[in-house]
Amino acid sequence: MSRVYMDEVRMVSDAPTSDVQTSERLHPPASGRLRQQLRASTGTCIALGLLKGRCDDLPTTAYLLLGERCSNACAFCAQSSQSCAEAGMLSRVSWPVVDLSELLEGLRLATSRPQSSGVTRQEGIGGLKLQRICIQATDRAETLLDLLTLVPLLKQAAGIPVSVSFRPHSLKDIAKLFDAGVDRLGIAIDAADPEIYAQVKGGRFESAKAFLFSAASMYGGKISTHIIVGLGETEESAVRLIAECLGMGLTVGLFAFTPVKGTALESHRPPEIGHYRRVQTALYLLKLGMVSVDGFCFRDGMICSIDVPESRAIKALSSGEAFETSGCEFCNRPYYNERPGSVMYNYPRPLTKDEVVQAIADTRLWSKEAVRHELLGSQ
Ligand code: SF4
Repeated sequence: MSRVYMDEVRMVSDAPTSDVQTSERLHPPASGRLRQQLRASTGTCIALGLLKGRCDDLPTTAYLLLGERCSNACAFCAQSSQSCAEAGMLSRVSWPVVDLSELLEGLRLATSRPQSSGVTRQEGIGGLKLQRICIQATDRAETLLDLLTLVPLLKQAAGIPVSVSFRPHSLKDIAKLFDAGVDRLGIAIDAADPEIYAQVKGGRFESAKAFLFSAASMYGGKISTHIIVGLGETEESAVRLIAECLGMGLTVGLFAFTPVKGTALESHRPPEIGHYRRVQTALYLLKLGMVSVDGFCFRDGMICSIDVPESRAIKALSSGEAFETSGCEFCNRPYYNERPGSVMYNYPRPLTKDEVVQAIADTRLWSKEAVRHELLGSQ
């Protein structure tokens, strides 16, 4: 068994950098040594055989966390400079410290063994084949250089796409990341409107959005963003931002706000499920091109109807994909926002028929009878 340095495993499952010296930028350390600690989510450690345990749903992406105690002060984040949450936490997931060479070997083995089952419905480690690596990187002076060191090592070991979720400070930073082999870059906008952005992240929403959109224009189809639902935004502001992001060619990953002990928002409640399901539905129908933002009717900021015939809308939602984890391909983030057995904001696997019926009914945009009738016929 490889070593994993655990602070504590809480659950068995599972988010302008100072410029570097030119010589360092051109020559990352030959040894591949990182300047900061590297962690992997508990579910990733189990999937890679670095930790013993059982998961109902294993990750289809290997999630890594680079650095800790970010220089930013986001009110929801366990890694924020203002947070007193434990060092190895991000959202509700625990991230043990891992040894780089053992991680690389685990990734090499996990991506080279034959795949014996589907990629989204796992049946244990033997059946798992990871499809992506995602590095969640905190914003610190050393982070960019560490990413430029780490990404080529991961690509060499695993040969699968690498996403990086990071706050670049210039388009030049982005160019360096893509040059190093990053396949997709996630630049989280997080908040859906200017007021909430200022409250929970500090700074100006419009500037953050302008930077995100300029990255999207320059690197068409290779930029993702994260939107946290449940920070107090209206559904209207979330839908308008999602539509703008999709229009810019961005991939949108939705997160349900999750209170983490030790953060400024530890007492804020997670979103009401109807609110979350309506935003998921909006994202999905917008992505399919079945409706434009003008086809949504809002009352007091809530979606009250969508200009798509009932039967067409329910059929479009019948696969359940709208309610699975959204974001980069093969990103399933198991239990990132939810406790096993509790409300599943983002399903890390395909839904059962009953789960689909319930999820669509939870939107309260169509009656449960209509949903049952469309999906299950006369049953
Ligand atoms: S959508 Fe998933 S894989 Fe992509 S950057 Fe976000 S967390 Fe990583």
